Amino acid sequence: MQSAIVLGGGMVGVSTALHLQRRGWSVTLIDRKEPGRETSYGNAGIIQSEAVRPYPMPRDPATLARIAMGRTNDVRYRLASLPQHAGPLLRYWWNSTPERHREATLAWARLIAYATAEHDTLIRDAHADNLIRRAGYRLLHRDPAALEQAIAVAEENQRDFGVTFRVLDGKELARAEPLLRDDLPGAIHWLGPWTVSDPGGLVSAYAGLFERLGGTLLNGDAQTLTQTTSGWSVDTSVGRIDAAHVVVTLGPWSPQLLRKFGYRIPLVRKRGYHMHYQGGRSLDLPLVDTANGYAMAPMAKGIRITTGAELTSPDAPATPIQLGHAEAAARELIEIGSRVEPEPWFGTRPCTTDMLPVLGPAPRHRGLWVNFGHGHQGFTLGPATARVLAETMNGEASAVDTSPYRLDRF
Ligand SMILES: Cc1cc2nc3c(=O)[nH]c(=O)nc-3n(C[C@H](O)[C@H](O)[C@H](O)COP(=O)(O)OP(=O)(O)OC[C@H]3O[C@@H](n4cnc5c(N)ncnc54)[C@H](O)[C@@H]3O)c2cc1C
Repeated sequence: MQSAIVLGGGMVGVSTALHLQRRGWSVTLIDRKEPGRETSYGNAGIIQSEAVRPYPMPRDPATLARIAMGRTNDVRYRLASLPQHAGPLLRYWWNSTPERHREATLAWARLIAYATAEHDTLIRDAHADNLIRRAGYRLLHRDPAALEQAIAVAEENQRDFGVTFRVLDGKELARAEPLLRDDLPGAIHWLGPWTVSDPGGLVSAYAGLFERLGGTLLNGDAQTLTQTTSGWSVDTSVGRIDAAHVVVTLGPWSPQLLRKFGYRIPLVRKRGYHMHYQGGRSLDLPLVDTANGYAMAPMAKGIRITTGAELTSPDAPATPIQLGHAEAAARELIEIGSRVEPEPWFGTRPCTTDMLPVLGPAPRHRGLWVNFGHGHQGFTLGPATARVLAETMNGEASAVDTSPYRLDRF
């Protein structure tokens, strides 16, 4: 029987462990916390089948000037941390030309196409249907011209990738979300995505399935990984664990471990915050307020507001600016109630500089595999990329050409 250690129990790691297990592998999943307590816990909980284009870096001077002057809420930066972002940002800029972004989109959309189908199997097997709504989400536009532009892009995505949507005018939006202010221009309702009322809970349910099917879940530190004569070894709370193969699924922490083995993977680390609100009114479906760069989603703990990207250093303290703006903007739309937690949650979207995940074998180390760097949509893509990686590890032909995601492209 083939054996593997999977390092990191976020959405990507738990899904990878399940897909290897399904192929008859003996799998140990190791995390320093409970599964699904980091980035996969704090996101907006949208399984984004409509997200057929990865996020490029803005290139037009007007947008860049607004970001530089701190006039946007979807992207902000901490000046002191800019030097450490400079290299990755330059590569991100280079890869965001329309032509390169088009290429990245083709490789990205190939994975997105499997997102909901791959979640569906796991949701059913994990009996997690109570956490899921299959009714899409809405993109609110406060400016009619911006709504027209967004409709044109949505039509292009429908034509090229088959995503489905409905345009709601102001009255239709008010009927669909009766608690919202009723003087808004309208929204795009993406019909295909699914939404999750407790993202960390969904990862826990998948991890529970993995254990029920005989998988081993252990606490341990991935940084203790060493190569042995027969494979790989990691320190855990029950001693050293060995396996012939190891998979690095540490999300934003993955490059740090791979560096020890001589692989340098640049990441644009986009921090996001969330806060829950209770005591006000709730929404029917998640709503993204595009002009103000945040999402609000009805979740088990109340309305969860999630913010856009903050470029900062991993250990920098939380800053209140984006969440503060988002909260004020949300209060213009709906009575959300008061904050549930004393402090906001924050986590890092692991974004590669060419916008594609890193998936496959490490070229210079036998039995070392990776699956990370899913950026803004790792919660969506965990099961789909897990399947592709497990097929590759198991020597099966994959329906997806994996060459765009290989590690040695950096
Ligand atoms: C505000 C926000 C909103 C988002 N909204 C969405 C959304 O709506 N839809 C979507 O698809 N994506 C969304 N994302 C992105 C998504 O959350 C991430 O891409 C995804 O969760 C990454 O999953 P992962 O498994 O790679 O990483 P993680 O979930 O971070 O998992 C990595 C795991 O590694 C473990 N680990 C780290 N270091 C060690 C170590 N030394 N030893 C042992 N274990 C270790 C951690 O404890 C963690 O469990 C959002 C992200 C943010 C920040």
